[in-house]
Amino acid sequence: MGNALNWNETPWPRHEEDGVAYYTAPGITARHVFTTRLGGVSTGALESLNLSVRRGDEEPRVRENWARLGRAARLDLRGVACARQVHGSDVRIARAADLQPPEREPRVSCDGFVTNEPGVPLAVFMADCLPVLLHDAAAGVIGAVHCGWRSSVADILGVAVEKMVSLGARPARIHAAVGPGIGACCFEVGPEVADGINRLLRGETEGLLREKPDGRYMADLKRANARRLAQLGVPAAQIDLSGLCTMCRPEEFWSHRKTNGHRGVQAAIITL
Ligand SMILES: [Zn+2]
Repeated sequence: MGNALNWNETPWPRHEEDGVAYYTAPGITARHVFTTRLGGVSTGALESLNLSVRRGDEEPRVRENWARLGRAARLDLRGVACARQVHGSDVRIARAADLQPPEREPRVSCDGFVTNEPGVPLAVFMADCLPVLLHDAAAGVIGAVHCGWRSSVADILGVAVEKMVSLGARPARIHAAVGPGIGACCFEVGPEVADGINRLLRGETEGLLREKPDGRYMADLKRANARRLAQLGVPAAQIDLSGLCTMCRPEEFWSHRKTNGHRGVQAAIITL
């Protein structure tokens, strides 16, 4: 497999409604959003659209942020499937019974959800890690995955696609979106991360890892995940890649690295 897989790298539409700014992916037809930090009521390092109470925020503020997002994106987000994310490879099938108020502490631990039930919004949180949304429109199956490097090299996308297939999806029909997250411009990693990416992709890492003189690497985690999706059978042309780097755009996104961990969280949300 060469370097020139034809991912869809056209710029993503940016939407702004009452100050709430979010992005959507061009190829995903299920309703979805990739949020920014803009348009909420949280303060300090969490200014302003922080979507998790786990960052030290107050529940009423997080509830108001979700309400503002729901109004802006015209989504019913009073109940959402969301989790304590643990940088593993566990993906759960979400049902209506799993929905919870998103401003509360999550009840389950995992790093991804899939579902084929309408009205079950799936949400993942991040601030540098990559959000990946998946959709097989013909089967009516969606997925939302939190892809930090640990989950990525543990093949969480392989697990997510397998769970989608168990619900009737076919990889060749899946549209995928790798959202705003840390880019190859900023993601400096040690050799253990480079080794993990190499193992995950069975050596198909052309153009994904740039070794520096000090033995560290600049890693392209977005394209590594896109390449993994292609290996899993998702056509490259059906994979949207966001060019937005969270670390390069502190005015619009939280970056864990840029803020030394003093930050809120963005979310990627998809629903049937
Ligand atoms: Zn960057």
